[in-house]
Amino acid sequence: MSHERPSISVFGLGRVGLCFAACCAHRGFHVIGVDIDEEKLSVIERGEAPFYEPHLQDMLEEAVREGLELTPSAHEAVIRSDISFVTVGTPGGPDGSVDLSQVESACHAIGEALAEKGAWHLVVIRSTVPPGTTGGLVKDVLEGSSGLRCGPDFGLCMNPEFLSEGRAIKGILEPDRIVIGEHDRRSGDALQAFYERFHGDASIRKRILRTSLINAELIKYASNAFLAMKVSFANMMARLCQALPGADVVAVMDGVGLDRRIGRAFLNAGLGWGGSCFPKDLSALLSFAGGLGISLPLVRATIEVNDEQPLVAVELARKALGDLRGKRVAVLGLAFKPGTDDVRGAVSLKVIGALLAEGAEVVAYDPKAMENVRALLGNTIEYASSALEALR
Ligand code: NAD
Repeated sequence: MSHERPSISVFGLGRVGLCFAACCAHRGFHVIGVDIDEEKLSVIERGEAPFYEPHLQDMLEEAVREGLELTPSAHEAVIRSDISFVTVGTPGGPDGSVDLSQVESACHAIGEALAEKGAWHLVVIRSTVPPGTTGGLVKDVLEGSSGLRCGPDFGLCMNPEFLSEGRAIKGILEPDRIVIGEHDRRSGDALQAFYERFHGDASIRKRILRTSLINAELIKYASNAFLAMKVSFANMMARLCQALPGADVVAVMDGVGLDRRIGRAFLNAGLGWGGSCFPKDLSALLSFAGGLGISLPLVRATIEVNDEQPLVAVELARKALGDLRGKRVAVLGLAFKPGTDDVRGAVSLKVIGALLAEGAEVVAYDPKAMENVRALLGNTIEYASSALEALR
C-alpha cells in the first residue's frame, strides 16, 4: 500500500460488503465497490442504501460525496486497488450444502485481472465459506485464472466477518476481534497493516488473531454455532419454566448470565433464531462434519430445539384461543431481528405459515420489513400501517 490514500476494492455490495465499503470510505480509504447487479450499483451511486441498516444511509451519502467508486468491472477494480475483499453471498441449500458459485466467479474475475496487473495484490475472503475452501477452491481458481502463484505473486487471507445486522456499522468500526487467516506471512502482514491503518491505533493489535486459513474458516462457523446454542439453551430452559408455576425464564437467565464465565448475551428465550447466517451456517457445519464421519450432537440439538420453537408460540395461541380457524391474529415484527429489514430465514414467516395452515387470518406489521414480506407472501395476509392498527 504505497499511496497516500490506500485503495481497496470490495466485491459484493450486499449487507456485509456495502457496510464494509462505507466504513472503509469513512476511515479515509479510496474504495471501489464491485457488484454484478448493475441496478443495485445505480441505486448506491445515487447515495441510496438498497436495504435498511442503522447509520448506513448517512455513511453512504458521505462515502459517495468523498468519491466511493462503483463498477461492475472486476478488472478495473483490481488494477486500481491494492487489496480486494470478497464479500459475495454463500447461500445454503436445505441439505446443508453451500453454494460457492458467487465466490468462484468473483475469484475467477479477480484472477483474470491479476494476470494483467503485474504487481503483488492481496485477495481477502470475507464471505463465510466451509473449512478448506480458501486454501482449496479459492486458491486454485485464483492461480488457474491468473497463471500466477499464490504467495510470491499475490497474497491470500481469510478474514471472517462477525458483524450482526442491525449493528453492522458499529460491528465493523469497533470489532471485538479481527481474525486474520493467512496463506503466508506477507499476506497476513499486509492485512494487519490495513487494519492498523483502518483503526488508526496500534492498540487494535491486541484484538487481532493471526492464524491459518482453515482455522479462520472454522472460527466463524464455531462462533455462530456457539451463539445459536446459547439461544437454544435459553429456549430449552423456557420450556421447563413454562411447566413450573411461578418460574420465569427471564429471571433465570438474568441470574445465569451474571456469571462472567457465561455472560447474559444470547440467553434470551423467544421464537428462536433465524436470519441468513445461523440457519445456513449450522446446517453447513453439520453437513461438513458429517462428510468426515463426525457427528456434532450439540449442533444437531441446537437446530432441533430451534426448529420446534416457533410452533411452541402457535401452540400457546391455540391453548389460549382454542381452534384458530377464522381467528384474526396480529403478528408484530417480521424481520428476522430488530434494526433490519432482512426477512431471510425470519421466524415470523414460519409462524405465519403455521397460523395460515391452522386457518387463522393474519394481520402483520413491521416498521421496516413490510415490503420484503409482501414480496414473498403477497395477499395471503393483511398488512397494517402501525402496530396499533394491527392489534385493532
Ligand atoms: P448478500 O446476498 O446480501 O450480498 C451478496 C452480494 O454479492 C450481492 O449484492 C450480489 O449481487 C453480489 N455478487 C454476487 N456475485 C458477485 C460477483 N461475482 N462479483 C461481485 N458481486 C457479486 O450477502 P450478505 O448477507 O452480505 O453476506 C455476504 C457473506 O457474508 C456471506 O458469506 C454471509 O454468510 C457472510 N456474512 C453475512 C452476515 C450478515 O449478517 N448478513 C454476517 C457475517 C457474515
